[in-house]
Amino acid sequence: MASGRSLSQFQKAFSDEASCAAFMFKRRWPDGFVCPACGKRRVAALNSRPRLHECLDCGRQTSVTAGTVMHRSRLPLTTWFWAAHLMTTHSNGMSALQLQDQLGVTYKTAWLLTQKLRRSMVDPDREPLEGVVEVDQAEIAFREGDTFFEPGNAGKILVIGAVEVIERDTNQAKPRRKHAKYLNTRSGRIRLAMIADNSSASIEAFVNANVKRGATLLTDGHKSYPGLTGYRHDPRVVGKMAAHVVLPWIHRAFSLMRRWSLGTYHGLRRKHVDTYLNEFVFRYNRRYYRHVSFETLLELAADKEPASYWDIIKRDNPRKRRTRAGSAPLLHIDEH
Ligand SMILES: [Zn+2]
Repeated sequence: MASGRSLSQFQKAFSDEASCAAFMFKRRWPDGFVCPACGKRRVAALNSRPRLHECLDCGRQTSVTAGTVMHRSRLPLTTWFWAAHLMTTHSNGMSALQLQDQLGVTYKTAWLLTQKLRRSMVDPDREPLEGVVEVDQAEIAFREGDTFFEPGNAGKILVIGAVEVIERDTNQAKPRRKHAKYLNTRSGRIRLAMIADNSSASIEAFVNANVKRGATLLTDGHKSYPGLTGYRHDPRVVGKMAAHVVLPWIHRAFSLMRRWSLGTYHGLRRKHVDTYLNEFVFRYNRRYYRHVSFETLLELAADKEPASYWDIIKRDNPRKRRTRAGSAPLLHIDEH
């Protein structure tokens, strides 16, 4: 099972290729290795190349990283593990620039590492939010290319968010209320997504994908909500009262998100905003147990289809004639 690791424990546990490869091997074949060619189970690791295992029956060599986000990477596994550890355990995450310094790799390599790992920061089996859930929208500024970021002049992205309201005493998603007020609460799990507009269609699609039927939606009484069926709706009309008073937890999440996007990234770029939001959500939802979240990330990365550089920047590879339409499945990076 996943166990927490301090920095020095981490360095000791994953000091070389063999220890990283052994970790990947266990995660990929938790019930024991099965040869993809002949179906037999007897296998030997190759001492000279720790990523490869050879079937003792048919001789087929299988890589522990085949079919994972680390597929065909020339980087040592130790570099991948180190990057995953830094991105998940630092309280504000890590930009490519910071990672470049920490790992001693080029900026492009660091950038690709962060992009690929970020694409693994959505658990395809995650459960929808439940209980009492605050839902609201916020605008955040985004950065255009590499231009100097001036929040006052920047374009805006519309982000929708939802957060579970948890009872502090019981840690359940069933907060007690007195009259209209929820009493002793804290924030539970969140979800965030960019939406095109404030229309009912955009909001409903997000809620349907992220909140369990039967949950109670706490909203600011926005006119786009009444179309949602299958939910209880508890609109908090924000008259004179500020929205952060009636919907405190989603507003706290939004303000952390803003601070993080400015502090770590000097503003998010529109093109990759979904993957950045995924990163924020991943870290937020694991904020009480960061030291194990690196293992979660590597487990998710182990199940993830590899994406090439050209897929990530969403351009055609000039050396290949294949069109983007032909490689569309790799672009599909979220789970909805
Ligand atoms: Zn075999």
